Amino acid sequence: MPSYKLAARKYNAQDTVIEIPGPHNPVSIGAGYCTVIAGPCAVENHSDYIEIAQTLKSIGIHILRAGLYKPRTSPYSFKGLGGEGLKIVEEARQVTGLAVLTEVLDVRDIEDLYPHIDIFQIGSRNMQNFSLLEELGRTDKPVLLKRGLAATIEEWLLAAEYLLDRGNHKIILCERGIRTFEPYARNTVDIGAVPIIKHLSHLPILVDPSHATGRAEMVGPVAKAAVAAGADGLLVEVHQHPEAALSDGRQSLTPEQFRRLYAQIGKLAELEQRILQ
Ligand code: PEP
Ligand code: MN
Repeated sequence: MPSYKLAARKYNAQDTVIEIPGPHNPVSIGAGYCTVIAGPCAVENHSDYIEIAQTLKSIGIHILRAGLYKPRTSPYSFKGLGGEGLKIVEEARQVTGLAVLTEVLDVRDIEDLYPHIDIFQIGSRNMQNFSLLEELGRTDKPVLLKRGLAATIEEWLLAAEYLLDRGNHKIILCERGIRTFEPYARNTVDIGAVPIIKHLSHLPILVDPSHATGRAEMVGPVAKAAVAAGADGLLVEVHQHPEAALSDGRQSLTPEQFRRLYAQIGKLAELEQRILQ
């Protein structure tokens, strides 16, 4: 008997499919779909964000990254626009009709974010922030739960269990690489986690090839490997001018690189009759 119950495959023989209502049209994450969430690491300013949102919509995506509160290793790095950027995100959401995903670092921000965003993200560093898990477990919005920097799969599923146990069943897991002895890439991608999660749980799993590798040239190969391994989708960082990005430029794709990757992911999705979103 695994220590997690509601997250276990046994609890739900069918794969869970999460429907995100979105500002205009619903979008699904889970079995039968391959859902690609893309956008810059952080919302930096009004014009660049609206522009990239429109470009990504024209490429075909349905959900936009909207980083407002950025967890940075150094306190001197750009920490995001915070609540000040929320108006920009709401405008991008209304103008494009795309759903948005944003990371929440502090339980005190949930209420302000709630009306303007479609998916809450719990970042790696907060995977075991139990008060944040419990508070988001009480909301009715989907939550994307990233795997902790050094979390085992069981610890990750137990973190999901906190959300499920509080009543929120719209949980999406996201593998984003783990710490190993290998320093070349930012993290070591655990592709094996995808089939393991599919075996152990009914919850959908995405892979974030951007934070998992830290290197733009690795993003495409890892993204394709993830979808081939059965991931329900991807979370990819895209920036108009990666070299000038205020955070994570080194791992960001240009819109043109992303356009090519998205088309290739579409072909992989097609092999298994999955709908690319
Ligand atoms: C992010 O997606 O913006 C992020 C900070 O990722 P992670 O928590 O995986 O480092
Ligand atoms: Mn980032």
